[in-house]
Amino acid sequence: MASTTGLAAFPMRLTPALAPALIILALVSSLGLGMAPTTAATGVGNAPTARAATAAMSSATAAGKPLPRDPRLPNVMVNKKHPLQPLKFVPRLRAVPGSGASLQPEAALAFNKMAAAAKKDGARIRLVSGYRSYSTQQALFASYARRDGAKAASRFSARPGYSEHQTGWGMDVGTASGSCRVAKCFANTTEGRWMRKHAATYGFILRYPAGMEAVTGYIYEPWHFRYLGPRLAAAYTASGATTLEQYDGLVPGPPAQWGVRKTTAPVRMYATAGTSAKLLAIIPTGTELYYSANRGSWLKVQHQGRTGWIQTGNSRKATPAAKTTTLALNLYSLPAITGTRLASLPRGTVVRPTGRRSGTWYQVAYAKKTGWLSGRFLK
Ligand SMILES: [Zn+2]
Repeated sequence: MASTTGLAAFPMRLTPALAPALIILALVSSLGLGMAPTTAATGVGNAPTARAATAAMSSATAAGKPLPRDPRLPNVMVNKKHPLQPLKFVPRLRAVPGSGASLQPEAALAFNKMAAAAKKDGARIRLVSGYRSYSTQQALFASYARRDGAKAASRFSARPGYSEHQTGWGMDVGTASGSCRVAKCFANTTEGRWMRKHAATYGFILRYPAGMEAVTGYIYEPWHFRYLGPRLAAAYTASGATTLEQYDGLVPGPPAQWGVRKTTAPVRMYATAGTSAKLLAIIPTGTELYYSANRGSWLKVQHQGRTGWIQTGNSRKATPAAKTTTLALNLYSLPAITGTRLASLPRGTVVRPTGRRSGTWYQVAYAKKTGWLSGRFLK
């Protein structure tokens, strides 16, 4: 990344007080994505004062909304271009029993709750690393940089003041056996799979997904999760964004990638998008399929409680069939019970799905409102 070169070339004789501001300015002037053009121009054109740097860093996103920068809150954006403010921020902390690590209290409690739920499903998740101080991160990055060089190290490790671990909201999750510790293979462990499926329910998201290094600045880290809180995590999941940078409007979000199709002949559902992937099912003719993402001619669909990929052939675009509530149900603003309650629907209410699903939730239109209903109580 450009920032690596900028930092590596930095003169070491700077006074400690000025150094953080200048580092920020160096990053601001070198970045292209996510910064409004006027602000970037200010950063480049002005003398390198702390004031100019601060003005540039507190800019709004491309979408016009202010970027969340308060590290005391779980919505804070911290990445290679957006350091903690203040740079040596220390959060309130709560120890996670049995881990030797801490998180901000809200995240620590959510982790405990999540670990208990995972255990019931046979997944023994452990907190491998939570909060790391500025000085710990400084030592960690320096050791990686000595081993691999600064440029290589910055692909998987943050510079001090730029790590989500320093916020107390970021964490690395591992297995009880210690296998696949902070390694790619964690993705294929029982614990890794469980986390992908259930973490958002407890407010955590996978922060550095595969193939998004250009956006997040980090290689795929199936072990690194970030606490947003259940409400924001649900909104994030429902948005279809694949990175927090997209969700916050720092980079353009994905186009709408959801809808419904009906099969016109039997369709093969694979574990991933490719005919050499594991065959999960053969979906019969006339089946209604909700899809939530596409990759070329492949669609990610849900069928009988499983998620897989189909090719678009042998199916046509369809209007989702109406559904009926099997219990008195609340309509929520988000696909989670932490969302705002928009309406209460009596049992037997007929609703019109919009074609959008998030996990087991369906987005529906009802009485001039659009909201989410739990699919467990719809038929
Ligand atoms: Zn991490």
